[in-house]
Amino acid sequence: MSFPATATRGASSSWWWSNVQRTDDVAQNHRRHRKRHLYRNEARRRRRPPATRNVASSSSRGAEEGRSSDAEEDDAFSVCVLGCGPAGLTTALAIQKLVVPTKETRVVLFDKNPNAMDGNLGGGFNINGGAAVLEKLGVYDEVFSENANKLRGVLSRRCDKDRTRLFDVDVEEEVRSDFLLNAKELLVNKKSGEVMAGTVMRADLNKGLREVLNEETCEVELGCEIVSVNAESGEIELRRKDGTAETRRFDLIVGADGIDSLARKCVVKSNRSSSSSSSSKNNNNDYNNSNESDRSGRSGSTSSLEEPIYSGIKILFGVTGVDDKPEDLIRDVSEQTTAHQWFGDGAYSLVFTGGGENKKRHNLAFCSNEPLGSANSNPSWRANSLVTKEYAHNKMMKANMPADVLRICLRCERFFEIGVFFHEPLDTWSSPSGKVVLVGDAAHAMPPFLGQGANQAMQDAYVLAKCLSTFGPDIKDPNTRNEALQSYSNTRRPPTEAIMNASRFVGALETGKGPVSLFRDVAFFVAGTFGITGKIFLSGAMPRL
Ligand SMILES: Cc1cc2nc3c(=O)[nH]c(=O)nc-3n(C[C@H](O)[C@H](O)[C@H](O)COP(=O)(O)OP(=O)(O)OC[C@H]3O[C@@H](n4cnc5c(N)ncnc54)[C@H](O)[C@@H]3O)c2cc1C
Repeated sequence: MSFPATATRGASSSWWWSNVQRTDDVAQNHRRHRKRHLYRNEARRRRRPPATRNVASSSSRGAEEGRSSDAEEDDAFSVCVLGCGPAGLTTALAIQKLVVPTKETRVVLFDKNPNAMDGNLGGGFNINGGAAVLEKLGVYDEVFSENANKLRGVLSRRCDKDRTRLFDVDVEEEVRSDFLLNAKELLVNKKSGEVMAGTVMRADLNKGLREVLNEETCEVELGCEIVSVNAESGEIELRRKDGTAETRRFDLIVGADGIDSLARKCVVKSNRSSSSSSSSKNNNNDYNNSNESDRSGRSGSTSSLEEPIYSGIKILFGVTGVDDKPEDLIRDVSEQTTAHQWFGDGAYSLVFTGGGENKKRHNLAFCSNEPLGSANSNPSWRANSLVTKEYAHNKMMKANMPADVLRICLRCERFFEIGVFFHEPLDTWSSPSGKVVLVGDAAHAMPPFLGQGANQAMQDAYVLAKCLSTFGPDIKDPNTRNEALQSYSNTRRPPTEAIMNASRFVGALETGKGPVSLFRDVAFFVAGTFGITGKIFLSGAMPRL
């Protein structure tokens, strides 16, 4: 795989480009900008008539109908982001950094999970291209460096008694010696000179991103579920845990609501309605959780476009507690910057250490080729109470995993059982109205075998904001916005589709049974010997902005 090495820059975008590059000045500018906003917003609030939202408790909605809503009464560019995962939070940040200087912009983020930034949320992941995005947005140090554990290598072995080495990728060396993909330019931090590759705990990344959002122009509400999205009007309906409900209207709705995305269903449906509008009488572009039965459309059925598909692979994911005493080390310090893979028949496991200097946690992913059973994609990363330590240990023992893996399994304090799902690619990621657009897993949930889902999500966010900013103040005009959204979708669909396909292939190969597992071992050994595995890692990690 090869990819465009540098970001494209339109003539009109040169001013913001230089803005993004000034990482040293960003914190200072941010403070100055915040102050200016505070005064401007205050003056505006005084001039504006009160209560422009269409706010209604669930019991009094009817009485509130007819009241005008945000986007109608305010000339600010209003953006709603559904979901506070890596995609949603990076989108809000990128919009603030790139689009705000062009125009007054307000961003509101909602997440149905009240614990979306809680320390117990999920496990860790491997971040590289996403770190390059954070560098471009001027928040690399506070969001990435402070939370990440360096990833210097990936060592893969067989689960046989000789622990046969299949390949050994030196990540630093791979990046620094690359002359084909421009890795030295894109994956080496300009200020510190370090290679931007590390493992971060999910909650830490989310929290870090939230902390750098400018609160003057951004609202974050957790524990608030979006239950319907209207692609024509730009309205969303939300429900809170306390039973209150509200309808709000925005210029743009960004669907960053993950693999089971409501916004994705809305985009698929509105594109289908639009393409068949001459023959169809149903032009209602409202999508809510209850019209799941509407499945007709492109190629006879859109269900495969709307719904994620099971890959045939399950992951049992475990996270240990923190090593607080030197004598209590769960993984040797010398191993903590290397991810270890162990390959067996129809299964493999991956062990890595995530988190910053004082709060390292070890992560274990056991991937096996098996029926889904009662598992699902576990989009909320809820720890599975049915998966006990004994269950996990037995399962890994049966698959012949080595003592290194079993020892870590016994130190895990929480487990997640995850069915690996993926999406069929869409032709476009936005609604014809230019009101709804998708980022991250909502646009392209992919199997995690190249460790790229969150990295790609963060790159989507950056490119989306960049495309929106290119059109300056005209972005409030739906036709102009449509152009920006198409440009975003055209830039990001090809690389994410390529990684999706590669990731599906790698997952099937890595968990192959019988002769497939033998073929895998030979192929990995040969690829490792000739340095091909390093290039595969690098091509996945390279940012495509
Ligand atoms: C086992 C495993 C390992 C992985 N490892 C890596 C890795 O090493 N590197 C990597 O880059 N990627 C990895 N990934 C992929 C990565 O986890 C996802 O790609 C990433 O989380 C996608 O981010 P997102 O923001 O699009 O979605 P999510 O992180 O799923 O966030 C979506 C958010 O939207 C919220 N939401 C959903 N519906 C609604 C609604 N109706 N109303 C309000 N809120 C809503 C959810 O609560 C959630 O917080 C891995 C995935 C798995 C399963």
